[in-house]
Amino acid sequence: MANIAIVGAGLLGRLMAWQLSLASNTHNNAHQISLYDKDAIDGRQSAAYTAAGLLTPYGESLSCEPEIVAMGEAALTMWPELLGELASPVDFQANGSICVSHRVDQGDYERFARHISQHYPQAQLQLLSKSEFTQQVPALAERFESGAYLQGEGCIDNHQLLNALASALQANNAVDWLAQTQVLTVSPYQVHTNSGIKQFDLVIDCRGIGASAIHTQAGSNIDANTDAKIKDQGALPMLRPVRGEVIRVYAPDVEFSLPVRLMHPRYKLYIAPKAKHEYVIGATEIESGATGKVTVQSALELLSALYSLHPGFAEAQILEQLSHCRPAFADNRPQARSKAGLIQLNGLYRHGYLLAPVMLATGLHLAAQQINTAKSSKSSYSVPPAFFEWLHVDGKNNLRAKQ
Ligand SMILES: Cc1cc2nc3c(=O)[nH]c(=O)nc-3n(C[C@H](O)[C@H](O)[C@H](O)COP(=O)(O)OP(=O)(O)OC[C@H]3O[C@@H](n4cnc5c(N)ncnc54)[C@H](O)[C@@H]3O)c2cc1C
Repeated sequence: MANIAIVGAGLLGRLMAWQLSLASNTHNNAHQISLYDKDAIDGRQSAAYTAAGLLTPYGESLSCEPEIVAMGEAALTMWPELLGELASPVDFQANGSICVSHRVDQGDYERFARHISQHYPQAQLQLLSKSEFTQQVPALAERFESGAYLQGEGCIDNHQLLNALASALQANNAVDWLAQTQVLTVSPYQVHTNSGIKQFDLVIDCRGIGASAIHTQAGSNIDANTDAKIKDQGALPMLRPVRGEVIRVYAPDVEFSLPVRLMHPRYKLYIAPKAKHEYVIGATEIESGATGKVTVQSALELLSALYSLHPGFAEAQILEQLSHCRPAFADNRPQARSKAGLIQLNGLYRHGYLLAPVMLATGLHLAAQQINTAKSSKSSYSVPPAFFEWLHVDGKNNLRAKQ
């Protein structure tokens, strides 16, 4: 049995805690998991809660590396098995996505379509005729003549997922969830909170933007005298915040079930359909660590884009306006770092849900190198070596380790 601390109960922290709590060692003893988060169990202060839950690797491909697309494709096939292990249902679909454009953004739309056809033929991009478009998404036919259909993309209900993971973790006696507990620093084998320093066999740091060096210094009230003892070895100097905002509405007069990308001059805008006529529009992308509420400008841009899709959005009720910061390294690539006693999984930027199953498998693989894990919940969560090498920053010979 290993005593494992997981710091951060957002997307990655919950997934790691859940999977490790189902694993056991060669003597069939379950691992003991201490899950720390400064937030309440509902996780509303995480990027994971704010996100739209889109799983759109091709839609991202104009502005990300091909490896992210490939990992996103792989993750889309891994999600169903993962979700099948949870007792509570989580809406997930991979039935494709639609891309539409107003006339003024037609140039961007054509460039996007050319890019996908050339580089990602597997997306089987179809430029739909008026009648095909009307058949595929009748709700949008009033305002758009046509659109592009991309096979295999999808979305997940992120709020349902966070709740389902919370239920699974709370039902497991091996998990001690220390909610509303601010972690001041992490270091190999140690977690430091206001109650003191606790020792573990392994610490897994999943603090998202909370692991940024700037954020850590500003967010903690460390006594200078104890600085040497408790220096935050987990702080990531190059992790930067990228602010994003979304708005969730209830629109009983609107009915579509595929994620819709609307070409927009400033943002990659998507509308993610949720259950019961709820839709999430987002997201803005601003190079800033500002943590304030959604601004007037962003709300105007998001809501006018939403209304331009379907007149029924005029009567929609605004349910939530959320903002948070995506954790991103300088090259916008995620990183899995590992040294004795400390694993750090971070930098998921705008691709947390898109990549989560692959990042989870990578984190579990790294954990298995440090603790005696004989049985995991599903042995099939293995990570292809090429992905592992791309994600894993070993801290020695890799230039990315300095980021
Ligand atoms: C507006 C927006 C839209 C997005 N849309 C999508 C999308 O459609 N698809 C997609 O794939 N991704 C999307 N993302 C990205 C995705 O949400 C993130 O990549 C993902 O949530 C990162 O996961 P994480 O576990 O690293 O961080 P988080 O989910 O933020 O979790 C970090 C956790 O650590 C806790 N924590 C931090 N510091 C401390 C501390 N000192 N002590 C204790 N606890 C601490 C926090 O409270 C939080 O619960 C979006 C993000 C935003 C902001």
